[in-house]
Amino acid sequence: MPDAPANNLDATQERASGYLKRFRGGVVPHLIAGQRTLSTSGATFDTIDPVTNDRQCAVASGDAADIDMACNAAAEAFKTWRNVSGAKRREILHAIADAIEARSDEIALVESSDTGQPIRYMAKAALRGAENFRFYADRAPGAADGQSLPDSDHINYTMRQPIGPIGVITPWNTPFMLSTWKIAPALAAGCTVVHKPAEWSPLSAVILTEIMDQVIQRHGGPAGVVNLVHGMGERAGKSLTEHPEIKAVAFVGETTTGSHIMRQGAATLKRVHFELGGKNPVIVFDDADQDRALDAVLFMIYSLNGERCTSSSRALVQEGIYRDFAAKAAKRVANLKVGHPLDPATEIGPLIHPRHAEKVLSYPGLAREAGATVAVGGERALGGKGNYVQPTLFTEARNDMRIAQEEIFGPVLTMIPFKDEADAVRISNDVRYGLTGYIWTRDVGRAHRIARDLDAGMIWVNSENVRHLPTPFGGVKQSGIGRDGGDYSFDFYMETKNIAIAYDGHKIPRIGL
Ligand code: NAD
Repeated sequence: MPDAPANNLDATQERASGYLKRFRGGVVPHLIAGQRTLSTSGATFDTIDPVTNDRQCAVASGDAADIDMACNAAAEAFKTWRNVSGAKRREILHAIADAIEARSDEIALVESSDTGQPIRYMAKAALRGAENFRFYADRAPGAADGQSLPDSDHINYTMRQPIGPIGVITPWNTPFMLSTWKIAPALAAGCTVVHKPAEWSPLSAVILTEIMDQVIQRHGGPAGVVNLVHGMGERAGKSLTEHPEIKAVAFVGETTTGSHIMRQGAATLKRVHFELGGKNPVIVFDDADQDRALDAVLFMIYSLNGERCTSSSRALVQEGIYRDFAAKAAKRVANLKVGHPLDPATEIGPLIHPRHAEKVLSYPGLAREAGATVAVGGERALGGKGNYVQPTLFTEARNDMRIAQEEIFGPVLTMIPFKDEADAVRISNDVRYGLTGYIWTRDVGRAHRIARDLDAGMIWVNSENVRHLPTPFGGVKQSGIGRDGGDYSFDFYMETKNIAIAYDGHKIPRIGL
């Protein structure tokens, strides 16, 4: 790994503008079959700098024709890639991880500039991307493994085979890390990929595809194993989900978009994997270690600008400690450092887009109208042209308010009092989402009971979200379909085949004698 570079705002800004020069100089292209190409239509769209809302760069805007070329390239490359040995894929995926690490400063600074996410988090997200590749590199040799299922007349055995070209569609919040989390297992399984990144933050995908394509071709793999097409969801994204060469769609984004994709993919019977929205509860009982609970509550909603699917956006605090807990939280929230995303001291950067900032800023009014208290924040921050929003805390909220039901996806926490265990479970489950739940208590039995009873795919007890890559990641209800992580990802990217071989002794029914 390279030495850690200088870390202050002037230094990071200077390095970032160096890295961004290539994107600002012309139109950011697609990568199809190893070739950088512009859209066949010539169309482009602009991205903006969340600090100023000035134009950041022009990006090729793909449509059905570009998607068609990319999907055909992925289908062609699949013929070769599926037969590359697991050992070779392991070597290639580790080489991709090496290349990500070598360019981690560039990836982090480009991602931070594109999304407004504070550099303190993006630096780790770039390295986590490399870790995802290493994790699946080591699993590639065993990806095809199956079971032996003998009966008296036959020996049955199963094997797994890659399903085919995959459409990967990702959101704007932490695009690099999320893309690697989809693409690494797909490649390890032997699948090829067409990636359509979010139109608000397309830049780190260019670096990732470039790295993967270079490494694969350097190791003798075909061009077209990974392809990148930029564009609008309703055009490029839609065409990708409808393309007959695409066998499965791995999607991370909003719940309503998931519904669209399911409809769009119906005609070609796409397999889908959805990681969607959340309105996750963190339940704090009066017997909890309240200092640790407070640290975790704040981290899980105010890190990553609150633009995080697993954020603890509803804090359910037991009545007896509610007032004290809310007061301590308010003090800390008011103290959060809002600033330039490239400043290593910044805890909250600008939100990605003026439209998103407006959406987030509509909730303080809704909170007041419904009778909740805006205890901290609720306004724009720092003045200027950027999308800075004050970290915001709503207290005295009820779960039927919109601030408790809707995913705000910003640095905004809704704090709700509860009476007892039953009340906490009822309130937690009374939303359409079910991604994660966080429980803070020292009562072991209660922790197990609530973990069992919460409608969520992932539960953490006395902890913030700490990922262990072999464990299943995903949601229930309207938070998603399917699981990522460990071997679970291979269930999605691969088909299981059964082979039955007779011992040549069983009686075969004879007809037509
Ligand atoms: P989004 O659904 O608006 O967009 C996601 C992607 O889908 C983009 O690339 C977009 O261009 C594309 N898209 C839009 N319409 C499409 C269509 N009709 N067909 C195909 N593709 C289409 O989501 P967003 O606003 O970019 O991201 C925020 C959302 O993502 C939040 O709801 C958040 O909770 C969710 N998210 C979930 C997870 C998770 O793991 N559950 C992780 C991160 C983000």
